[in-house]
Amino acid sequence: MSSYQKPKGTADILPGETAKWHFVEETARQIFHDYRFQEIRTPLFEDYHVFSRSSGDTSDIVTKEMYDFHDKGDRHIALRPEGTAGVVRAYVENKLYGPEYVKPEKVYYMGPMYRYERPQSGRQREFHQIGVEAFGAESPAQDVEVIAMAMQLLNTLGVKNLKLVINTLGDKESRQAYQQALVEFLRPHFDELSADSQTRLEKNPLRVLDSKDEHDQEIVTDAPSILDYLDEKSQQHFDTVQSLLKDLNIDFVIDPDMVRGLDYYNHTIFEIMTDSKAFGGKMTTILAGGRYNGLVEQLGGPDTPGIGFGMGVERLMLVMDAEDVKVPVDDDLEVYVVGIGAETNATTLEMVQALRKEGVSADRDYLDRKAKGQFKTANRLNAEYVITIGQDEMTNRVANVKIMATGKQVQVPFEQIAQHFEQVQQQLKEAE
Ligand code: ATP
Ligand code: MG
Repeated sequence: MSSYQKPKGTADILPGETAKWHFVEETARQIFHDYRFQEIRTPLFEDYHVFSRSSGDTSDIVTKEMYDFHDKGDRHIALRPEGTAGVVRAYVENKLYGPEYVKPEKVYYMGPMYRYERPQSGRQREFHQIGVEAFGAESPAQDVEVIAMAMQLLNTLGVKNLKLVINTLGDKESRQAYQQALVEFLRPHFDELSADSQTRLEKNPLRVLDSKDEHDQEIVTDAPSILDYLDEKSQQHFDTVQSLLKDLNIDFVIDPDMVRGLDYYNHTIFEIMTDSKAFGGKMTTILAGGRYNGLVEQLGGPDTPGIGFGMGVERLMLVMDAEDVKVPVDDDLEVYVVGIGAETNATTLEMVQALRKEGVSADRDYLDRKAKGQFKTANRLNAEYVITIGQDEMTNRVANVKIMATGKQVQVPFEQIAQHFEQVQQQLKEAE
């Protein structure tokens, strides 16, 4: 009677679509490996405070989007809205800063994230991120490595028309000086600001720059720029990031109004955007990140610099679809074994098992189809070879192997089929 639907804002990833996921994930793993990033897996849920403490009490994520609840032991739990906080928690708890680890410690993760948002294209409640974190290096070269890796990943995946946008939030002192100037600028406009931004002005003024309210955005167009408040060290860090990006021929633009949604960032922040028709030509961010010196300390670890990024996999795939990126399909079936007559049941099963043991993908019928139906199925599955076993073949222990594409056939003794499948393939080729 009842029919169930998936929860609002979630998606089923069906067998036909998983090949694309494998392609994205495997490409990422390969590239991350080449940069010496290793995978880390952390829980899908954490103590609520891991996120509230790191993302900041005024971030949208914490104030509006958290999937949190009290468990049966009355612990305040939250499903992870992003990857960094949990990874930093794990880094501290497992003392990955210890002397037995080679610094910088470079890790990556991939998996689902949860945010209570209004679902729309490219915005879900359960979505997936692929992200990286590098701990322990203050050098601007580390920032550039992370950005270069992100660009290489997107390029390798075939995404074009990328726009890399960077900015700096400076160090704590620069940020404080800027914050003061910003508050002085915004205070006279207090009554015009949206309610959210009025709260932000009190608690975290930089956040006002990130407001999605149009009138707020108008007001901040004339706001002072962070770039005028950088102290010497912060300026130097940002200058070096820029010159290294140029050395690597990575194009970028600077957006001094970009602040990013999370509280923990400082120095370099960046977004990789696209105006793909996937989002109606509107500039959309698919990958974002930044430096978060101080976050490790905030979660109870030693003073450790860090930088990372997170990429939205669904958004990436919308772009890949819109740009018609060809993904290698991995649903090829090498052999379909047709059995004629019920007496072949055990033999065909033994045959597919023997082939699979040799690493050959093989399948057979399980629905009592007649021979004709089995050949039809082999065609629908795009089988490269069909092996036919009937009464005669059972008696002679010799099977008929046919290349579907050309119709060429050879007779091969049962014993040789699985173990010498490569030779059988060769024999068939020579028969052409
Ligand atoms: P936005 O401004 O679009 O809400 P954000 O600043 O909240 O983005 P981040 O926290 O930086 O996003 O997450 C990094 C990436 O993860 C985003 O650029 C996007 O590709 C993806 N992402 C974030 N939220 C969602 C979501 N609800 N559904 C799908 N992808 C998402
Ligand atoms: Mg968001």
